[in-house]
Amino acid sequence: MATPSVGRFAPSPTGPLHFGSLLAALASYLDARARGGQWLVRMEDIDPPREMPGAAATILRQLEQHGLEWDGDVLFQSTRFAAYEAVIDQLLASGQAYCCSCSRQRIQSLGGVYDGHCRHRNMTRQGNGVRLMVPPATTIEFDDLFQGSQQQDLNRDQGDFVIHRRDGLPAYQLAVSVDDAFQGISHVIRGSDLLDSTGRQIFLLNTLGRKVPVYGHIPVALNAGGQKLSKQNLAPSLDTRDPADNLRTALLWLGVAREGDLAGLSVAQMLHWAVSQWDATQVPRHPGTAAPGVYQH
Ligand SMILES: [Zn+2]
Repeated sequence: MATPSVGRFAPSPTGPLHFGSLLAALASYLDARARGGQWLVRMEDIDPPREMPGAAATILRQLEQHGLEWDGDVLFQSTRFAAYEAVIDQLLASGQAYCCSCSRQRIQSLGGVYDGHCRHRNMTRQGNGVRLMVPPATTIEFDDLFQGSQQQDLNRDQGDFVIHRRDGLPAYQLAVSVDDAFQGISHVIRGSDLLDSTGRQIFLLNTLGRKVPVYGHIPVALNAGGQKLSKQNLAPSLDTRDPADNLRTALLWLGVAREGDLAGLSVAQMLHWAVSQWDATQVPRHPGTAAPGVYQH
């Protein structure tokens, strides 16, 4: 018998959900439920300088308002520091990772691709970052549910990458990989702004000897000016006065529904219908292929 499917939505509490993050939540929810699987929510709250007080509670309330009910308890990454530290220690002890004192300016001067400068300097943790060694010719291949066959050359794109930051916080790539393994995630469905991170996460999971999930990256939503909707460019918070209208727009955008399919349905009815209709091949691959008129959020 196949192992049960587990999906997840993993927002950072840097602000309320916007339309783009609702799309990612909804796509991961539909994919998990259509497989008869569980859907988990993980709050990626390990970067306090970027977080907004109260945002985690707001996000959870917004999910509930849109009928997106998760299984079990929400996992807060801020409770997981000991687990990340244990993995970092293990990688340092096995010689697969090393401490690095290089400044951000130095990395920028290298064009963002690390040159292995600190590999053999044998520095201590104190005040330094930690990098995971990427052996020569490390190319990661995977089949994305929506974007098709992918190939990422880690040596060319990043080189040895950060798993613990110089400011003392675990790096995003490490925390995500450790927690996807910890929660038994089988399907990672998220926005294509994270497609570039996937090679590093697969490499980390392989290095740790953990199972690699299936990945699917939905195209990011654009605003009317053609910019990605994100907190950085001040995408408006989701207007939750009419969740059914938001869901209808999102289902059109994801290729699940067509105009007229959803007239008069409640949030619960729409989700129930959408789970039965979910088809990964209908999800647009590129932002430009979605019907015009649904970006106006
Ligand atoms: Zn260095």
